[in-house]
Amino acid sequence: MERTFVIVKPSAVNRQLIGEVISRFERKGLRLVAMKMTQLSDEILHEHYNHLVNKPFFPKLKAAMQATPVVICCWEGVDCVNVVRTMCGTTNSRMADAGTIRGDLSMSMQENIVHSSDSLESAAVELNRFFKPEDYFNYTRTIDTAIYSSDEI
Ligand code: ADP
Repeated sequence: MERTFVIVKPSAVNRQLIGEVISRFERKGLRLVAMKMTQLSDEILHEHYNHLVNKPFFPKLKAAMQATPVVICCWEGVDCVNVVRTMCGTTNSRMADAGTIRGDLSMSMQENIVHSSDSLESAAVELNRFFKPEDYFNYTRTIDTAIYSSDEI
């Protein structure tokens, strides 16, 4: 099964939407295998948003990502990276489809509630950046047999 990395951003924390975001992934059937509240440092944000550090909006983005602590999590499931990315919706919340987290809960390009890894490769890099091996839990839930058919897992 795949694992992906999610940040519940300050835009969600400030708007009391932490539970709503976590709940959506949980109700989908994904398994939470690591979770932590943390304050993002300059260093980690430069690494995480390395593709954006030279953009004019980066200083504002960095301040927004440091406005409150964030909740970081690792979700596990079949095709989890794409499933979570689709659930988050496109970057510009105003363009994001209804039914997605950004489409339902936000109106902004910057203040868009959630981050999720865009590929299996970046999920591995991001998870490694934010979590230590001992942060993960391997467990089964009683509901797991109802989530997939036996040939899907
Ligand atoms: P995504 O988060 O959808 O993977 P990107 O990696 O392109 O998108 O951007 C990372 C984050 O930077 C976005 O989620 C958003 O918060 C912010 N961002 C991206 N583009 C802009 C922009 N033009 N203006 C302000 N913030 C932006």
